[in-house]
Amino acid sequence: MRIGVLGGGQLGRMLALAGIPLGHEFVFVEPGGEAVRGVGELINASADDRAAIDRLTNDVDIVTYEFENVPIATARLVAVRLPMYPPPEALAVSQDRVTEKTFFGELAIPTARFLAVESRADLDKAVATLGLPSVLKTRRLGYDGKGQRVLRVPADVPTAWAALAGTPLVLEAFVPFTRELSIVGVRGRDGAEAFYPVVENQHRDGILRGTFAPAPGLTAELQAAAETHARRVFERLNYVGVLAIELFQVGDELLANEMAPRVHNSGHWTIDGAATSQFENHVRAITGAPLGPTTVRGAVAMVNLIGRAPDPAAVLAIPYARLHLYGKAPKPGRKIGHVTIVGPSHEALAAPLAVLRGLTRG
Ligand code: AMP
Repeated sequence: MRIGVLGGGQLGRMLALAGIPLGHEFVFVEPGGEAVRGVGELINASADDRAAIDRLTNDVDIVTYEFENVPIATARLVAVRLPMYPPPEALAVSQDRVTEKTFFGELAIPTARFLAVESRADLDKAVATLGLPSVLKTRRLGYDGKGQRVLRVPADVPTAWAALAGTPLVLEAFVPFTRELSIVGVRGRDGAEAFYPVVENQHRDGILRGTFAPAPGLTAELQAAAETHARRVFERLNYVGVLAIELFQVGDELLANEMAPRVHNSGHWTIDGAATSQFENHVRAITGAPLGPTTVRGAVAMVNLIGRAPDPAAVLAIPYARLHLYGKAPKPGRKIGHVTIVGPSHEALAAPLAVLRGLTRG
């Protein structure tokens, strides 16, 4: 099939790298599109360019997307013309933090307490209700920790307001989480579902730095709880494709932070560490093929390369390290690649990880 992809960053690149061996071809809509050079055709335009969307839908059999800020009007237009997975409704839910948390609430998936904030008076009221610490976030277009401020003391309230006002906001109660987890699952066109093990994610400055799969100490109960959350989202949206839900673990409870209706950074480990990668399973799902097994090959650590790449030869000298570069120019704070290490246990990964961290620091 010819698969159209709205967006063309590293997620698009890895989708193509998984889908090409299955006989598919890819067409991306992305300005620049440096990460997808060589893995498909490029329509050098943004997703709100109507002529570009016309070109895409005339040229492909199905359409998917690899970033969640696809304009809803574009998604709906495409979905009228061609099979479009995941459904545009999933985008609509995930683009607005209030809509998203309200949606989770309707499905009895717990979240942080939250209140919509439109004015300074709303913010004062929300702080009085939810207390401090709390987190003020833009409702839309926030990613990698951008567009948010933690309020710890009353003096932080005016500063955060000054920094973020001008767009609809949400105040969330601060979640005293033990750790951050996520679940990646996939649902086929026939309704078949498969889930990868819950993973542990480590963030710094709001950016994912590393993932450990399965999450150390993962219990069957925690896995089942996360799968139940994802299954509810799948069934409510009649979902097709890969979905990720970011979770806060608080004791034995899992609160949903946000969902991504697409392949996700916390699933990159599956390329080297699972029987079928999230990218291949997304392609299988949207093309109506059977899903592949999500079985894990061992204990896996994934480390993002942010801002600059280490010497490739030094990474490749680490036993069992697999290097994935995205073909993107290095820039501070930019994800330009990742490294995966697969071993027999998380303990066995400590030594190669220490070497890798030495190479990626600074
Ligand atoms: P987000 O953009 O919602 O994924 O938030 C980025 C990071 O900020 C999360 O991965 C958490 O580390 C932290 N964070 C976000 N919301 C909260 C919250 N309500 N309580 C505590 N930490 C949070």
